[in-house]
Amino acid sequence: MIPETILADLRLIVGANSVKTGEALDLIHPGSDANNLNAAVMVAPRTTVETAAVLRLCNKQRIAVVPHGGRTGLVGGGVSATGQIILSLSSMNNIEMLFASAGTAIVQGGVTLHAVQEAAACQHLSTGIDIASRGSATIGGMISTNAGGMEAFRHGVMRQRVLGLEVVLADGRIMSDMAQVPKSNEGYDIKQLFIGAEGTLGIVTRAVIRLAPPDAITATALVACISVDAATSLFQQLQASHTLHLLRAEFMAQNYFLTAVENLGPPSLASIASAPIYLIVETDAVDQASAQSILENALAEGIEEGLVLDAILAQSEKERGEIWNIREDSSVIDRVYPNGHWFDISVPLQHLESWLKQFDEGIAVLGPDVRGFAFGHLGDGNLHVGVAGTASKPDKEMVKSIIYAHLREMGGSFSAEHGIGLDKKAELTTLVNPVKLDLMRTIKSLLDPNGIMNPGKIL
Ligand SMILES: Cc1cc2nc3c(=O)[nH]c(=O)nc-3n(C[C@H](O)[C@H](O)[C@H](O)COP(=O)(O)OP(=O)(O)OC[C@H]3O[C@@H](n4cnc5c(N)ncnc54)[C@H](O)[C@@H]3O)c2cc1C
Repeated sequence: MIPETILADLRLIVGANSVKTGEALDLIHPGSDANNLNAAVMVAPRTTVETAAVLRLCNKQRIAVVPHGGRTGLVGGGVSATGQIILSLSSMNNIEMLFASAGTAIVQGGVTLHAVQEAAACQHLSTGIDIASRGSATIGGMISTNAGGMEAFRHGVMRQRVLGLEVVLADGRIMSDMAQVPKSNEGYDIKQLFIGAEGTLGIVTRAVIRLAPPDAITATALVACISVDAATSLFQQLQASHTLHLLRAEFMAQNYFLTAVENLGPPSLASIASAPIYLIVETDAVDQASAQSILENALAEGIEEGLVLDAILAQSEKERGEIWNIREDSSVIDRVYPNGHWFDISVPLQHLESWLKQFDEGIAVLGPDVRGFAFGHLGDGNLHVGVAGTASKPDKEMVKSIIYAHLREMGGSFSAEHGIGLDKKAELTTLVNPVKLDLMRTIKSLLDPNGIMNPGKIL
């Protein structure tokens, strides 16, 4: 329990209404993990200076601090416990500046991605990054998890979107490197340490974000591909095309697609030819008026070359929404098969076919009531993989041995875009190079010697 005297000090720093306990906290949704609010004390500073004062106090009193953005994280990074405080960025949600001519925005850490997307769209710009949790996920949380998403194959992950960063360290010092330019070589690029650090090294309070030109999505198609290799070949062809721009390429293996379409509908999409792999591709075209037919021609070429079996082009915004719903409402798998384990891996594209073959064969050995599901962001080889039993949860260690077999030799990663949090700690200690692990521990103890920043996460 946090002593009443400390609560009083926290109230003095941020104001009484910004320290939530008891009933006030009951009104707040725990988010992706039911244990996120276990600390039962949430402090929501309004400024960097208040954040620094909270951390100074907590560091002095050795009170652990768990940062919270939108609580959409999927690896337990926001889980808190009694005796800790949650530091929520919810009151630091301003877009301070947006420079249309430079294509940059200065934002506070608690602003949602959706809010920045809307502000950028008003200036005919985009964020260059998009994830399905956009309505709740915050820029600070996305920086702290180095979020990826559907546009990463074109614009990079969050690391590539950040030009400048302001971070409050465990001892309350403020590290400000708010460069607004892509070229800045002022010694070690310290801000990179905090990107993907999941709140274990400091609190991201402000950032300079690089914006991108807006997408003019003019054609969307659901495509049934003859094989995984065919899907990657089609992806490369569409990327290299001079007549269209490939904006998105999402991937669904057969089991995922069939379960999603059967439960989400509509029947018109379920009528697409049976295939091992389905893609959702979105394009813009040099000649926008004929964008639909340009994509149709590209897919017809794919059929002639033996890459594509069938395709359905969205003819309206409603049909586009129906196609996307199959990919974005991925929790449909959990609703149908609640006894599952989920993984977030990356596989280099040249190995995707053999990895999926090995995955299907491995799952088959686990028994007739076990199902494997894979979907994700094709361009990055980023797969979200689920393994569920119809009656009970399959043995997690056995599932892991199937999923991680040969992944490192292939050059893949056991943690693609969701981070380590609590859930992937075992993988980190067994699969990561020991020297790298040593350096991580050294950096952690240097920046947070008292171990107050999100303890137990990552390391
Ligand atoms: C439906 C759905 C779709 C998703 N799709 C994607 C996707 O395509 N790509 C992807 O990468 N992720 C995806 N995610 C995962 C999640 O949305 C991202 O990890 C996101 O970046 C988390 O942001 P958040 O604000 O919710 O952070 P939180 O969940 O609140 O926190 C995540 C981690 O960051 C830390 N943290 C939060 N804010 C700060 C801060 N200001 N300073 C320091 N540390 C902080 C927390 O302590 C925690 O460790 C998805 C999640 C859902 C539910």
